[in-house]
Amino acid sequence: MDEELVFRIFFISIYGVFAGVRVYYRSQTLGRTSEKEYTQKTKAIIALILAILGYFLVMGLWIVIPQTILVFQIALPLLIRWFGVGMAIIAIALTVWIHRALGRQYSAKWEIQQGHKLIIGGPYSRVRHPMYTTLNLFSLSVSLITANLLLILLAISVAVPFFWIARAEEEILIEQFGDEYLEYMKITGRFFPRLG
Ligand code: SAH
Repeated sequence: MDEELVFRIFFISIYGVFAGVRVYYRSQTLGRTSEKEYTQKTKAIIALILAILGYFLVMGLWIVIPQTILVFQIALPLLIRWFGVGMAIIAIALTVWIHRALGRQYSAKWEIQQGHKLIIGGPYSRVRHPMYTTLNLFSLSVSLITANLLLILLAISVAVPFFWIARAEEEILIEQFGDEYLEYMKITGRFFPRLG
């Protein structure tokens, strides 16, 4: 079978599973009334929406009419493209683990739920934003499968606004949990475990 076709099949199947997982956990939040809801930091959110729209647009082109973005195809070693397949599958498994740990505290918005608990176990024991890290690990990994430079650059640009988003989210959690969160910050890293 043509190699490009194999990668295309992997890309679509992996993306399908990931989207299914996200939609499932998102559906669990429907109809819930939160205790407090915060307005999202507009600049970071606009940057994120634009990057995601660009990413999805190019992704659609790559799947349906790849010849339109052929100029951005790079000679990425096959090993790296297969590495992308492996990492994307790992990222899906991590996403499920993280969702299960965060449980009903999860929301696509900045919210404090009724009876919101601070989660500091499992994936949250060493990293404060494992979901954001994993989300970006996933989009970067799947973009490696495509060997399309434009998609790889867009995946990187999707990651950038999360620096502001995570910081703003932490302000909310400090407001809610006070010293408990400040102590938690001392022993964890924002996106990656602390060294030492
Ligand atoms: N930023 C986290 C969670 C994303 S979901 C991550 O990347 O893993 C966003 C929701 O999670 C927000 O509404 C916030 O209130 C909640 N949240 C973030 N960290 C939390 C924690 N350690 N414990 C409980 N809720 C948390």
